Amino acid sequence: MATAVLDTLDAQGLRMTGPRRALVEALVERQEAFTAEELMQAVPAVGRATVFRTIKLLVDSGLVCRMSQVDGRPLYSLSHQGHHHHALCQRCGAVLDIYRCGIDTMLENIELATGAKVLGHRLEVFVLCPACVAAADESPPAKQLA
Ligand SMILES: [Zn+2]
Ligand SMILES: [Zn+2]
Ligand SMILES: [Zn+2]
Repeated sequence: MATAVLDTLDAQGLRMTGPRRALVEALVERQEAFTAEELMQAVPAVGRATVFRTIKLLVDSGLVCRMSQVDGRPLYSLSHQGHHHHALCQRCGAVLDIYRCGIDTMLENIELATGAKVLGHRLEVFVLCPACVAAADESPPAKQLA
C-alpha cells in the first residue's frame, strides 16, 4: 500500500526523500484520519516544517484528503481518489467517504442567484457512524434521578 502511494508520487516527479518516505509510510499505516500533530508524533524524527510541507504536497497531488473537523481544525486521510465528500463521526472519529455528491442543482442555483461561476466546493457532514448508532442504541438509558 505504501509502495503504491510512493510509486504515484514518483510518477508525478516528486522526489521522495527519507523523511517524506517515512511520513507516507506512517500515514498509510494509520488507515484512519489524522491531524498534523498526530502524524508528527508518529514520526518524531521528522521536523515540523517537513511534516507540513509534505502533507500539503500530498493534498495537492490528490493522495491525501483535507477535511475540517466540526471546530474547523484540519484533518487528513488517505484519499481513495475521485470527487467525494466526508462524513465524520463525532463519537469515534471514523471518516466515511461519500461518493454521491448530489449538490449540482444547488450549485446551479447559486450560479443563477449570484451570476458567479462556481469553481469548486467543499462539503463536510458530521455524523454518528453506524457502529456508534448501534452502540448508542445498546447502552442503557441514563440513570433517572429518584
Ligand atoms: Zn477522502
Ligand atoms: Zn463512530
Ligand atoms: Zn461534491
